[in-house]
Amino acid sequence: HEGAIETDAVIVGAGPVGLFQVFELGLLEIKAHIIDSLAYPGGQCIELYPDKPIYDIPAVPVCTGKELTDNLMKQIEPFGATFHLGQEVTTVEGLDDGRFFVATSKGTTFLTKTIFIAGGVGSFQPRTLKVDGIEKYDGTQLHYRVRNPEQFAGKNLVVVGGGDSALDWALNFVNDGPNKAESVILVHRRDGFRAAPANVAKMKELCDNYEMQFIVGQVTDIVEDGGTLNAVKVTGGDGVTRVVPCDQVLVFFGLSPKLGPIAEWGLNIDRKQIVVDTEKFQTSTPGIFAVGDVNVYPGKKKLILSGFHEAALAAFGAAPYIFPEKRIHLQYTTTSPKLHKVLGVE
Ligand code: FAD
Repeated sequence: HEGAIETDAVIVGAGPVGLFQVFELGLLEIKAHIIDSLAYPGGQCIELYPDKPIYDIPAVPVCTGKELTDNLMKQIEPFGATFHLGQEVTTVEGLDDGRFFVATSKGTTFLTKTIFIAGGVGSFQPRTLKVDGIEKYDGTQLHYRVRNPEQFAGKNLVVVGGGDSALDWALNFVNDGPNKAESVILVHRRDGFRAAPANVAKMKELCDNYEMQFIVGQVTDIVEDGGTLNAVKVTGGDGVTRVVPCDQVLVFFGLSPKLGPIAEWGLNIDRKQIVVDTEKFQTSTPGIFAVGDVNVYPGKKKLILSGFHEAALAAFGAAPYIFPEKRIHLQYTTTSPKLHKVLGVE
């Protein structure tokens, strides 16, 4: 476990509940590291409904998913949690000294006294293109996200999908700029898009000017030669299958959540949710807590406000693991000089 970050608390998931867990731990002077497989905090609020209004956050009559996330980020700022984004927690192992070893898909490792699983409905993974044999090109000629746009410059691209990501990237690679592709063909199963209307109009205009092409259809097969993907076969609405030569295929079918590795950490799980008590929101493994949509107990409601309550009690439940000698008292943020100090509002 050389090089592992030693810490008191690791939070798995930076959705609204994971973010508020930082706050509740912070009030008890427990510093946390927080990890999410997404490249940004906010969980479902950001990934699924950034612009939709939420009406049932206490004392906030209305706010959007993005506003809730932004405000939580502001509220937890004083506690200086360390964010590790764009990486999934894959491993959690109990150690003989009572601590836990935690590792992520990027190789970041931790030795921690407590863990707070705030994994929601699971970590968001790109939906894949289901075509026989295409999976072996994942990362070389098949891509579900764009990490280095430069790698597509001067290439013949097929972009699959009908949402904002597909449209944004297709336009990005057509436009004059350092990443301009040799050619861009957009493939979508129907002639209707779930994307910004301005971008759809722009795409149609570029097609009219022969600067890119749009094909209605689905990728049904591939053409390979000696370990290289040379073309995809696209079956159109007319039932005709056309061969579309390409160097690179970019697929944007959106993200879907998967409980994934959480199911393998030896915790008591009931129908894809982690069983907890309602005193401390502790799992079947002492020292590991679960809060928010990921947990289950009698009467559980998957609401943000429930998750906030759970985070408060989990923090108190965890404190004895971190400060075995200390008696923890409830204090009010309004009046406690000690809390004013940790909040930086003296
Ligand atoms: P999530 O928001 O799901 O966040 C979990 C995070 O954990 C994700 O970012 C995920 O990537 C990450 N994660 C999971 N596993 C791992 C792993 N192994 N490694 C790293 N990261 C991981 N609730 C309300 O109270 N009011 C509403 O009005 C409301 N409206 C909603 C509208 C819609 C359309 C939807 C879909 C939900 C709505 N909800 C609403 C529900 C609310 O969004 C959830 O209750 C809330 O997001 C749960 O928060 P969470 O932090 O527990 O989980």
